[in-house]
Amino acid sequence: MNLILMGLPGAGKGTQAEKIVDKYGVPHISTGDMFRAAIKNGTELGLKAKAFMDEGNLVPDEVTVGIVKDRLSQSDCEDGFLLDGFPRTVAQASALEDMLQTLDRQLDHVLYIKVPKEDLHKRLTGRWICPTCGATYHEIYNPPKVQGKCDKDGSDLIQREDDKPETVEKRLEVNLGQTKPLVDFYSEKGYLRNIDGQRDIQDVFEDVDQLLKGSHQ
Ligand SMILES: [Zn+2]
Repeated sequence: MNLILMGLPGAGKGTQAEKIVDKYGVPHISTGDMFRAAIKNGTELGLKAKAFMDEGNLVPDEVTVGIVKDRLSQSDCEDGFLLDGFPRTVAQASALEDMLQTLDRQLDHVLYIKVPKEDLHKRLTGRWICPTCGATYHEIYNPPKVQGKCDKDGSDLIQREDDKPETVEKRLEVNLGQTKPLVDFYSEKGYLRNIDGQRDIQDVFEDVDQLLKGSHQ
């Protein structure tokens, strides 16, 4: 089962990835882990990637694609894989198509966990922290007893820079801009599966599970 998992920040991609790995035993291949492993093992491409990152530069596609290819050629990927965080661009997606062809394989599904942007905004901006004791709260999932105050010590809660509405909005916009062309690309190829991510974790996974069961005879 050769899978790609996509979703905007806050859509619950990480949780679904864990569940898929638990149930289907495919290796979860996230770009970050792959890079760390390649660098740690001192592979030629890993060293190349490190040189770019040490200089604070983006790693070029040809290096990233090479690292993915090395990873997908390893024996634990023989029966399938779950790619997460790759591809990020249509150029990388095309490179992946070529790569899979040379490995004589093809994608089964591109799972896109879809949550409306306004909802993601709410999920991502709801977090508040107590500057005194470090307790964290969430407006929707774990609200304090008194709005804006810590339950333990009554301090005024604050928001981290990353969780502020302007920052979240910008992050979502950037991600949407990256995701849209990929969604179109995979939709045209017939691999895209939209999963309604606007429900609780278990319901979302049931949809994913139905889909994967059906393709895994
Ligand atoms: Zn506190």
